[in-house]
Amino acid sequence: MEHDLTTDVSVPGPDRFPRLDPALPQYAVIGYPIGHSLSPVMHTAAFRALNIQASYVALEVQPGDLGEFVSSMRRDPWRGANVTVPFKEVVLDLVDDLADSARAIRAVNTVVARDGRLTGHNTDARGFLRALTDDAGFNAAGAKALIVGAGGAAKAVVYGLLQAGICKIVIANRDVARAERLRDAFDDGTRISVLPTGELGESEKDVDLLVNATSIGMSGGPAPESSPLPDGWLPNRALVYDLIYRPAATPLLRISRLAGLPILGGLPMLVYQGAESFELWTERPAPVNQMLAAVRSTLEEAAACFDS
Ligand code: NAP
Repeated sequence: MEHDLTTDVSVPGPDRFPRLDPALPQYAVIGYPIGHSLSPVMHTAAFRALNIQASYVALEVQPGDLGEFVSSMRRDPWRGANVTVPFKEVVLDLVDDLADSARAIRAVNTVVARDGRLTGHNTDARGFLRALTDDAGFNAAGAKALIVGAGGAAKAVVYGLLQAGICKIVIANRDVARAERLRDAFDDGTRISVLPTGELGESEKDVDLLVNATSIGMSGGPAPESSPLPDGWLPNRALVYDLIYRPAATPLLRISRLAGLPILGGLPMLVYQGAESFELWTERPAPVNQMLAAVRSTLEEAAACFDS
């Protein structure tokens, strides 16, 4: 039987949870609103590539229905879900077990449903690191990093870099109190320091890695045409890694490339964090190339549509 695996389903109330085919293992990305999630395209491509019969949908769950919805995932046909804004933190308290990643980052982006129990994981840090090593050939051990941004993505980046043995992290953010909270969650101040982004100076230019973990430069974000850095400020020699994947060439990446710095965009991280989720659910190696191709072609179609 052919199933439409990419349908977005709105879930306004508990009596309107989608009717699922009990014969098919069920997966979803849940959020509110769910927006234009790339997860259905990416995971559907993965299931198809491995010839696994499964359904993956985007579900818009009303915040008031989240508890009941997550509870329902303990039963068949649920096998797992991705969790996106605004539920990543709330889901921490709704699952039975937490993996170290989710406990440390204090956010869940992947739920595994197995034998009536739900385990929360966070695959963003591993996705971030895998892109850094596999796609940019960067070794974080002993390196110095500057992270601009202190939101959810920055938490995963800090956790990932500390796991990988980074020597020093500077966190720059518009709201410096948020950066301080992030520092305090992971460090006693020996490896991580913070400052307002506007105060970036000469000494911070001497880093090996710069990560943009803000939404500055993102299509549809608060400042799509801007760089998150102060005017004219760039690191001396660092790899510039922008977590944004829409557009592929953000203002920061364009400026950095013009200055001769090596660059890395957010698309590989997006695919690798999805691949990690897929592997947790299926216990099979994820078909990363097919996932990447599916996401890339969807983004290109959307960009062509936007440009025309
Ligand atoms: P978030 O929790 O909402 O954090 C947003 C960050 O952007 C904060 O540091 C915020 O600073 C900063 N910011 C927002 N508007 C700003 C403005 N006008 N001026 C200065 N700073 C501003 O978002 P998130 O989940 O961390 O996501 C951040 C970015 O990472 C997004 O673009 C997202 O697409 C990307 N991301 C990519 C991946 C991937 O797989 N490639 C995964 C996760 C996230 P304040 O604290 O001062 O408000």
